[in-house]
Amino acid sequence: MKNHSTIIIGGGWAGLAAAVELSKHNIPVTVFEAAKQAGGRARTVTHNNTLLDNGQHLMIGAYHQMLSLLKTININYRDVFLQIPQQLEIIDLNRQTTVFKLKLPLLPAPINLLTGILSCPSLNLTSKLKTLYKFNKLLKTPLNKDISVEEWLNTAGLPAEYTNYLLKPLCLAALTTHPHEASARIFQTVLQQTFNGQASNTDLLIPAIDLGHVFPEAAIKYIESKGGQVFLEHRASKLNAINGKIQSIIVNDETIETTNVILATSAKSTEKLLSDIDNCMHIKQQLHNLNYEPVTTIYLQYNPQVRLPLPMMGAINGISEWIFDRSICRQPGLIAVVISANGLHMTLNNEQLSAKVATELAQQFPDWPAAESVMVIREKRATLRCIPDIDHFRPGIQTPVSNLRLCGDYVYIEENNQPGLPSTLEGAMRSGVKCAQQLIQEYL
Ligand SMILES: Cc1cc2nc3c(=O)[nH]c(=O)nc-3n(C[C@H](O)[C@H](O)[C@H](O)COP(=O)(O)OP(=O)(O)OC[C@H]3O[C@@H](n4cnc5c(N)ncnc54)[C@H](O)[C@@H]3O)c2cc1C
Repeated sequence: MKNHSTIIIGGGWAGLAAAVELSKHNIPVTVFEAAKQAGGRARTVTHNNTLLDNGQHLMIGAYHQMLSLLKTININYRDVFLQIPQQLEIIDLNRQTTVFKLKLPLLPAPINLLTGILSCPSLNLTSKLKTLYKFNKLLKTPLNKDISVEEWLNTAGLPAEYTNYLLKPLCLAALTTHPHEASARIFQTVLQQTFNGQASNTDLLIPAIDLGHVFPEAAIKYIESKGGQVFLEHRASKLNAINGKIQSIIVNDETIETTNVILATSAKSTEKLLSDIDNCMHIKQQLHNLNYEPVTTIYLQYNPQVRLPLPMMGAINGISEWIFDRSICRQPGLIAVVISANGLHMTLNNEQLSAKVATELAQQFPDWPAAESVMVIREKRATLRCIPDIDHFRPGIQTPVSNLRLCGDYVYIEENNQPGLPSTLEGAMRSGVKCAQQLIQEYL
């Protein structure tokens, strides 16, 4: 029987984050990843020799944990992201017109937001002043009870343009949950962390290469350089617990002894792996009650001359929500359209959906030629549905099994008494690092 002292099951961004943190402290780890490549829900997929992501992702400057881990593994974030100060342009697909523009200057917060709002061409002077006062109040007033984002925004007294064209699309993008269902407390935290911190927090970080090369590939090299091992196509099928401790795990039919296990699988896989462990009843119940939201990405290949006016644009009153120009990934003419959460698009098959999105783009950009090819990627369980009070239903890092910890974007991590983060790469990585730090304390 083999023995691997510290085992991480799952090589998504949470598991790799935990592995990098442990490796940084010279604790060698063994990562078992079931898939052919690492990265989990933020992985590279190949289509017709083109490297795509299994879903177009967007990061922001407030992803401090992600940026810090990139530094640890010797990745200069400027080599892997296009960093642009927050510049949002929202188009109305019904009226084929731009309805909202906001550009934040490179100034310290909150002056950047103040200046951005004052120079926003989509708001008149009264609306600008109202926005400044009411938005600041909205961010600062603690929410004693969690309610839906829609309810919260309805009582805020903000101008309708600011609410409908900016905050509601941001809620859907950040929480992958429609505003009438989304948690106001979590959205408030996201807005605070974005707009109240350092100016660079609001920067958009758009991957400039495929996701596998943003973090997972370099993370694996780093882990291996510190004596760790990452095994792909190695699926864990059972955790053997004796006397309240995991003694061994079964991976690809082989039994492997272990001292500590970090379970960095998705919530659904975690629920399955915990099924045989009696004293994890409460966690299994929590996991069972979680709900998920899909994210759909439609990649449309146009003539290489085709460009969006901006690297990324928002859209309302149509099926398409966010449109990205992949020429920033050296993929000229490739446009990615992202649709978050459930909606009408889920009732359409891939052909119908592609046709609908292509028509919306053709109406908005009449100069573009027809798309040459289209690919649809649907991730049914892309993120947790981030409903009010969801943190009560999220397990924490420590389980009742002393040498078994959890990390992942569904895990609740306690930070300054604030609500947890939505299911994002930053949330996943923070949980991975926190989990590793708990273990490091134990090893000291
Ligand atoms: C289409 C899409 C778009 C998104 N957009 C954004 C965005 O713009 N910004 C953002 O911040 N976040 C975004 N997210 C969310 C983000 O991708 C996830 O929050 C994050 O990837 C979750 O990472 P994780 O490591 O917690 O879980 P996962 O990525 O699910 O990783 C779990 C890993 O465990 C492996 N595994 C499972 N079972 C086993 C087993 N039995 N044995 C071994 N290995 C196993 C899986 O193969 C997987 O690699 C998006 C997600 C999707 C799907």
